[in-house]
Amino acid sequence: MKKLNFGYLVTISFLATLIFSITIYGNPQEKPEQDISFYKPVTDISSYPLLKKKRVRNIILLIGDGMGFAQVDAARIRATGAAGRLNMERMPVTGFVKTHSANRLITDSAAGGTALSTGFKTNNGVIAMSPGGKNFMTILEAAQKRGMGTGLVVTSTITDATPSVFASHIVSRKSQPEIALQLVKSGVNVLLGGGKEFFIPKSIKESKRGDEQSPLDEARAKGYLIIDTRQQLADAKGDHVLGLFQMDSLKTTGDEPSLAEMAQKAIALLKPNKNGFFMMVEGSQIDWGCHANNPDYAIRQVLLFDEAVKVALEFAAENKDTLVVVTADHETGGLTIVGGNLDGSGLGFAWAKKDHTAVQVPVYAFGPQAILFMGVQDNTDVARKLSIALGIGNFPLKQE
Ligand SMILES: [Zn+2]
Repeated sequence: MKKLNFGYLVTISFLATLIFSITIYGNPQEKPEQDISFYKPVTDISSYPLLKKKRVRNIILLIGDGMGFAQVDAARIRATGAAGRLNMERMPVTGFVKTHSANRLITDSAAGGTALSTGFKTNNGVIAMSPGGKNFMTILEAAQKRGMGTGLVVTSTITDATPSVFASHIVSRKSQPEIALQLVKSGVNVLLGGGKEFFIPKSIKESKRGDEQSPLDEARAKGYLIIDTRQQLADAKGDHVLGLFQMDSLKTTGDEPSLAEMAQKAIALLKPNKNGFFMMVEGSQIDWGCHANNPDYAIRQVLLFDEAVKVALEFAAENKDTLVVVTADHETGGLTIVGGNLDGSGLGFAWAKKDHTAVQVPVYAFGPQAILFMGVQDNTDVARKLSIALGIGNFPLKQE
């Protein structure tokens, strides 16, 4: 009898401690990497209009890495309830994009990105080159040739596969130290993201380079403003800005510029260019949340991405000469939603795997020429349509 009472007391005190811990530490939803309180759902869920004006001055291409239909659904239902809409879902033209690469049914981000940036398919792992080693011209390079301003804005390292395919050419996505050198040489006006470790020489402790080259010093010598804090980004001026806000990828929490803040600043820096601008913004970490089969992580990253989409849409709605295209390079995880409530609470998820899948991904478009993106298309068609919208001939182009 005495023993039983003791066990009872232990149970009570265990429960009390548990309740106390939950009160003190909060529930898991309040961890910064799961917090979605930054997201303000739109009150007006109507579609943006189809614009008649034909001339495209600027292009903002936003790529949600690993963002399939279910990732969009999950983020919408969690953040707005089933009846709401994300910003990207207010874009008037929608379509489907097939994602296979040259050698695989299931693409990686290098081959998927190369298709979106060059209009050509290549093998998995290859950055803006043919499997045989010929450079493909990228839509960013074609825009540069026309005197347009250019920008790349990401939350991964700036040398990761998706940004790389727009301004470098190399047989393996793993060669991030070499990609850093190529990005600096490329002269892209605005480069914002993570990956400082690839821009500093081996002798500095945090460096991930195998040599004593310093792409950061080379960029400075070329006239880039080099920054690494949110305040410096806010104050940044000039036509060449390299912002590397972490050694590795961005944390997407704490005192870092958000993807939306970086996109907003990139637009402000590029807008004065008299020939317009081309900019790519990547929601890099949607893919990582899905590789981890972590719905809270993936949803938060879709919402951070959607805030950047909002910035692009507001700029385009005001200027009416800017084409905004939102798409993905592939789906990750084989995500589906298996239960939950209309208000977005209690969502249940199922995942098919921890890697990429072969299913189609969405494309959304708004602005002059948006209608080009209607219907079912190949990933290579996206780059080709961007070149048509800009009136660039001789594209896609394989360089000898
Ligand atoms: Zn991936």
